[in-house]
Amino acid sequence: MNALLEAVSVDAEHGRPLLDAATREVFGHAPEQTVDDLNAAIAAAAAAQPAWAALGHEERSRLMRAIADDIDEHAEELGEIITHEQGKVAGAGEAHGAAHFLRGAADTVLEPQRLDDRSELHYMPLGVVASIGPWNFPVMIGVWHIAPALRMGNTVVIKPSEYTPLSVLALVEIFRRHLPEGVVTAVSGGREVGAALASHPDVAKIVFTGSTPTGRRIVESSSNNLARLTLELGGNDAGIVLPGTDVSQVAEKLFWGAFMNTGQVCAALKRLYVHDSVYDELVEALAGIAETAPIGSGHVKTNRLGPVQNPSQFDIVSRLVDDARARGARIVTGGEPATELGPLFYRPTIIADVEDGAAIVDEEQFGPVLPVVRYSDVEDAVRRANGTDQGLGASVWGPDEEAAKEIALRLEAGTVWINQHGGVDPSTPFGGVKASGYGLEFGVEGLKAMAATKVIRR
Ligand code: NAD
Repeated sequence: MNALLEAVSVDAEHGRPLLDAATREVFGHAPEQTVDDLNAAIAAAAAAQPAWAALGHEERSRLMRAIADDIDEHAEELGEIITHEQGKVAGAGEAHGAAHFLRGAADTVLEPQRLDDRSELHYMPLGVVASIGPWNFPVMIGVWHIAPALRMGNTVVIKPSEYTPLSVLALVEIFRRHLPEGVVTAVSGGREVGAALASHPDVAKIVFTGSTPTGRRIVESSSNNLARLTLELGGNDAGIVLPGTDVSQVAEKLFWGAFMNTGQVCAALKRLYVHDSVYDELVEALAGIAETAPIGSGHVKTNRLGPVQNPSQFDIVSRLVDDARARGARIVTGGEPATELGPLFYRPTIIADVEDGAAIVDEEQFGPVLPVVRYSDVEDAVRRANGTDQGLGASVWGPDEEAAKEIALRLEAGTVWINQHGGVDPSTPFGGVKASGYGLEFGVEGLKAMAATKVIRR
């Protein structure tokens, strides 16, 4: 029996059924909360904020570490809910990751800064922070939003994705066991609740992770309350594989850079530009990994790939692959649903002999598909990698890290990895450029993003 699931799931009469991502069978019911519930949550958050701020950094950090320990202790239960909702293999891994980032925010030091002999810069709480999240890492991203906000003395109202509310409600249930009423509240509702949260006059800051179109709407909403924004939006990360790369050294890392969480990662590798001299060998190696990677229910821990989370994302993946096929691209492996595993499984797909201009290269697939584009001139690869309005991550792969770094400096992205893709850590700032958003999360920069500056001058 999963006590956390029992604590947050409501009875069928009063809730919206949620389907296990792999089986599409009902596993729980989410409360359907309204804008009235949201308004009550924001009022409670505003009332709780001064006392929470007055506790000071040390006590807040202590509470955050205690919550992190509690998340680790309940990682299996929380992970089971994550796997039901999201489909990922071993959801407990996401829960432990969330605990790690929570401790990271508790341990990061942000001191007031002496500017000169007359002036100092202090970092003050903002007030009520609104968090609006996606469905691909509901718990991890929930903590990415909540942790720095709490640490800086703000209170939080979080609106989970309507696809993954129960895992976030379960996360917040753990937080609430340690915190005064109103410090963190989850409101499970649809887009209208998200829109009301983003435009609420008592919200001082919105941290949003989701798609670029919704990000644009949130910018519009924030013209009402002038809330500050951190926007972590979509990505279409390019990787560039340079001549001289040892395929046997990089193929696994490249594959999982693209297919981790079944490709449903904001900063997954989504287009791979490979030099002609290693192209055929690398395409073959990637296809080999795709064909042998264990795929199935995320509840079976030996699997590595799971289902696509929801039908509309599944349709996007299918449409992009079908379009590539119709244009004459080569489907090296995959290219079709794996319906024998469940309604939303799609075979990991490697597409070769495809060019920019094809939708699978130009658009974000957010699923288990990787287009591999051939190039012969590195300048051309850099130009193509930069030829999109997205700019979340990118990577450069090659034997000479200094040469790779020269190219990394020219790629338009918030993070450029060398000989790896997608790794994040609690002390390294992360955020996008261009239409992938603005503002930074993690580390000292992440704390600053949750604070108002105040200069004291004598
Ligand atoms: P989405 O934009 O559809 O939804 C995200 C959230 O916004 C949901 O909670 C939704 O209810 C809410 N929402 C919808 N309309 C709203 C409105 N008008 N006002 C306020 N809130 C509203 O995104 P998604 O499909 O859940 O997530 C997938 C996308 O998120 C992908 O594009 C992916 O790249 C991106 N993503 C980015 C990052 C990052 O760090 N940059 C991380 C994860 C996912």
